[in-house]
Amino acid sequence: MRLECDVAVVGGGPAGAHTAMAVAKFSKGNARVLLIDRNTREEFGKKTKSGWACGDAVSKRSLDHVMNSLGIRYEWPEVEHHVDGVLVISPDHETKVLFDGEGYLLNRKLWPQRTLKHLERFGVEVMFGVDARSLIAEDGFVKGVRCTSRDGSPIEVMAKVVVDASGSASVLRTNLPIAAKMEREIDKEHDMEGTGRYILEFERAVEDRTWFDPRYCIIHLDQFLAPGGYCWTFPKGENKVNIGLGVQKAALDRRNAAHGLRDNLASLIDQYVRANRVISNPRPPEGEADRGNVYSVWQVPVRRQNDCLVGNGFVVVGDAAWMPRPIDAGGIGPALYASVILGRTLAEAIEANDVSEAGLWSYNVNYVHEYGYQMASFEVLRRYLQTLPNDDISFGMKHFLSQDDIESIKRREHPRFPLLTNFLRVLMDGELRKRVRERPKLARGLSYVADKSRRLISLYLEYPERPEGFERWRARLLRELREANEKLGIA
Ligand SMILES: Cc1cc2nc3c(=O)[nH]c(=O)nc-3n(C[C@H](O)[C@H](O)[C@H](O)COP(=O)(O)OP(=O)(O)OC[C@H]3O[C@@H](n4cnc5c(N)ncnc54)[C@H](O)[C@@H]3O)c2cc1C
Repeated sequence: MRLECDVAVVGGGPAGAHTAMAVAKFSKGNARVLLIDRNTREEFGKKTKSGWACGDAVSKRSLDHVMNSLGIRYEWPEVEHHVDGVLVISPDHETKVLFDGEGYLLNRKLWPQRTLKHLERFGVEVMFGVDARSLIAEDGFVKGVRCTSRDGSPIEVMAKVVVDASGSASVLRTNLPIAAKMEREIDKEHDMEGTGRYILEFERAVEDRTWFDPRYCIIHLDQFLAPGGYCWTFPKGENKVNIGLGVQKAALDRRNAAHGLRDNLASLIDQYVRANRVISNPRPPEGEADRGNVYSVWQVPVRRQNDCLVGNGFVVVGDAAWMPRPIDAGGIGPALYASVILGRTLAEAIEANDVSEAGLWSYNVNYVHEYGYQMASFEVLRRYLQTLPNDDISFGMKHFLSQDDIESIKRREHPRFPLLTNFLRVLMDGELRKRVRERPKLARGLSYVADKSRRLISLYLEYPERPEGFERWRARLLRELREANEKLGIA
């Protein structure tokens, strides 16, 4: 079978589904949009055999943004629970930092079902049970995608643009058959987190808001339980939880070797659930809404987004573009913001009949300006934090994090550590001077990271307006990142 369309979107997760809707909306229905997903209609948007792996948390700001931009609504039951913020708790449980404003806990199994209704209203044609295998290229342009249906029959979908929204294990981007500025691979050892979680109901054994709070998502920093990552306990109701953790493979290997242990992701998740003193009698939730989605593991990229998101006739979005925030692996928000920007770009490019790298370039520029400009600085901060032992993290949170930093984190900006970067302040404040003397290396590291963050953000604000300036810009970026890695002793 051979089909023709204007835009073929591969992957019906949040990135692909909302990009498809956005193209349909901004082209005023003039573009034919096909959305290809390997799942059946009932399991639409399922990431992996084990389920719709996710912590399920999304900020109110991100969900409002996509709803307002596309004129759609999400509500109960796909929006399962409301929270007032996110609490980060230090390894010694002595410091709590509240950041991030209101948010929601989604039901990721039900969310795609509501999304499907919106897609149908926008006239997007959804192909279920179709696996995209490879790109079709001609004259240096991507021209379509080769797929296979569930019964094994081949399908060729020819398109002016192919959107790769197939998630973190994308085979399309990895095997991109044209010359392009886009990077094809990620450093899996350092920039990919193995993550997993349970969705459970339970009884509360005790009241302890540092372990479970129905009004707040809780993040536990603990390099022993979640080496190179963090643990989370996100409420989905008064007695229901999404609980899990993420680890960096290199950090887990180091931790196991140092302690003579053989833990893996699954054993660590079980230890974390057992460590939670509030949760008693944990069990799978009853009912259809969570069936087949109780325990799920998958991988999340935690790097800056791909330095270039476009090629001739080809674009990447969501996890396929490494968009999750490097510091907390939150990928739904960036995917939703990017979808709206990309939908607009594609509608314009098709109208202008220019789907070349240059014709699609504004997606790069607009994404960087609206969302992506901070991600490289978060990548450096994340890499640095991964080198710190629990003891330093607890100390830093208690003594070096200022109210300004907390406000920055709330606004999802990089903390600037003014306590440490202001030389006069350190000099004048006897208590602070003492703390800096206690941990000079930590103080120097945080101060360096804050300075590097400023440099990286200014560099991103100079992201080239046209493809011609890209190689020079990228060489500067790589120099900055290399210098940070060397200075901080990061592998
Ligand atoms: C355990 C875990 C916890 C997380 N917690 C959070 C959180 O709390 N908050 C948050 O914001 N983010 C979280 N994330 C990240 C977030 O889930 C992702 O960033 C988000 O789902 C990315 O959306 P996407 O559309 O890019 O990709 P995906 O959601 O992965 O969707 C990709 C879709 O493409 C389909 N597909 C893949 N390959 C093909 C193919 N070849 N052909 C056809 N279809 C294909 C898949 O089946 C799937 O339907 C978490 C991730 C994990 C793994």
